[in-house]
Amino acid sequence: VEMDEKLQERIAKHPCYSEDAHHHYARMHVAVAPACNIQCNYCNRKYDCANESRPGVVSELLTPEEAAHKALVIGGKIPQMTVVGIAGPGDPLANPDKTFRTFELIAEQAPDIKLCLSTNGLMLPDYIDRIKQLNIDHVTITINMVDPEIGAKIYPWVHYKRRRYRGIEGARILHERQMEGLQALKEADILCKVNSVMIPGINDHHLVEVNRVIREKGAFLHNIMPLISAPEHGTHFGLTGQRGPTPKELKELQDNCSGNMKMMRHCRQCRADAVGLLGEDRSQEFSKDKFLEMTPEYDV
Ligand code: SF4
Ligand code: SF4
Repeated sequence: VEMDEKLQERIAKHPCYSEDAHHHYARMHVAVAPACNIQCNYCNRKYDCANESRPGVVSELLTPEEAAHKALVIGGKIPQMTVVGIAGPGDPLANPDKTFRTFELIAEQAPDIKLCLSTNGLMLPDYIDRIKQLNIDHVTITINMVDPEIGAKIYPWVHYKRRRYRGIEGARILHERQMEGLQALKEADILCKVNSVMIPGINDHHLVEVNRVIREKGAFLHNIMPLISAPEHGTHFGLTGQRGPTPKELKELQDNCSGNMKMMRHCRQCRADAVGLLGEDRSQEFSKDKFLEMTPEYDV
């Protein structure tokens, strides 16, 4: 896939958006967003949002002030730290005050750190202006279907404008809002990565269609992640006994999709409080009791 210079520059230091960058640059997540506005069948609410992170992990929840402190501490200690993302433990845009306050604090004190956001997309159309204003140049939407009938098997309910919508009705709202959000990102020239969770027997064949639609609508990168379903993660909300795909099935699907679009194949499904290079986990070094004692030495 050909890419112009300006675009290459925009992704050059983002380990998730650039395969080259992921060997050299690190990202960190701050877990400031506990609530969620939808129910995914593969979610286990005791753990972090499974849309961007490895299931079975509980991240330490931070206030926006603690999160900004953490970003400055780590930004000072790890010079390769170029990106701060908010990806959970629930949906960042179901917690807009906490999420945007965190980004504001970091943007004020560390303007050269890139800001990154991951969402299920339900509330995305409402926040495009805020996202643009804060210079958030990377947004991930998790899109698992473009057909509400398939959506109904993945999402038992969606909470939207003070009402709970079940089944196909809820899935249709989610789908429409995701498409609207994707379009709005494109118009605002914000780079968009789409995550899809591959669920055998539910959306595995359908994801080729998802890939076609998001490519058409201008998504920059598609990351198909395997459902990780292991007994030690506890019961998923509505997928008891559901298996994840084999590595071969995953690769076949990625190959089927890669026609004209960049596929992310280096995703390591990190935690909502991950710190370090992709695949490396230094979150324990910077746990809450430790980083709160450290003084930021961040140089702008
Ligand atoms: Fe769980 Fe889905 Fe909400 Fe993420 S978006 S916290 S996986 S219900
Ligand atoms: Fe951004 Fe997702 Fe990468 Fe985190 S894992 S830095 S939210 S693209």
